Amino acid sequence: MKLSIGYNRNNPTNNMALVKSTLLKHTAGIGMTSTRTRERMLTRLREQGIRDEVVLSAIGEIPRHIFVDEALSTRAYEDVSLPIGYSQTISQPYIVARMTEILRNGKPLNKVLEIGTGCGYQTAILSRVAKEVLSLERIRPLVMKARTNLRTLKCNNVKLDHADGSIGLSEFAPFDGILVTAAASHVPNELLAQLAIGGRLVIPVGTTTQVLTLIERTNNPSPKEYVQTKLEPVKFVPLLGGLI
Ligand code: SAH
Repeated sequence: MKLSIGYNRNNPTNNMALVKSTLLKHTAGIGMTSTRTRERMLTRLREQGIRDEVVLSAIGEIPRHIFVDEALSTRAYEDVSLPIGYSQTISQPYIVARMTEILRNGKPLNKVLEIGTGCGYQTAILSRVAKEVLSLERIRPLVMKARTNLRTLKCNNVKLDHADGSIGLSEFAPFDGILVTAAASHVPNELLAQLAIGGRLVIPVGTTTQVLTLIERTNNPSPKEYVQTKLEPVKFVPLLGGLI
């Protein structure tokens, strides 16, 4: 399988336009991303209980406004999810911080799989806390959007693919961490199988109500190989099959 955030050889003109408009957005937002605005966001995350300084510094470093449409950029540093088109959303900063903190568990991460790239915000945060990040998205235009955003931010340790993530990415397994950013009705067995021993899967589980769930793979013999902890209520778009 070919994964890349690289240049689209089939349409170089379109590539340039995308990079240009992302850079413009980036520059236009300089006022909004003043040190004070960012610091306010970090103070709020600390008040909400985020303790991992590695995660907080990654969040302080990645400009969130470049991931949303210009019309919404004044709201980019509020603690809200925002629309990104195709009936999908960019996750709220608190949940991005919380999921990354749980995944990291205070330790450096080597290889991480994200399912549900969206516009690439969580992916960018992961790229600052893991050595290598692979991320899958089922909606092609969002893959393109994320590619442009991640290239602008020079997230060179990220690979994206247009694929159904509910079956994971077995050819690149095992993963130290798997982070699912869409709600699953149940935990897919394929994802459990692709966790390294000592690895962590963080996944919202449920339909009408959802619970953020942590699954750790231990070296205990079955049935105690996987240890599940229910963490807190969350609200995500659903994990769906099929490609768009
Ligand atoms: N990680 C994003 C969240 C995007 S919302 C952020 O940082 O904001 C969740 C994304 O999951 C959507 O873009 C949706 O299209 C995608 N998604 C849903 N089901 C999927 C599947 N089976 N495989 C891959 N992506 C999926």
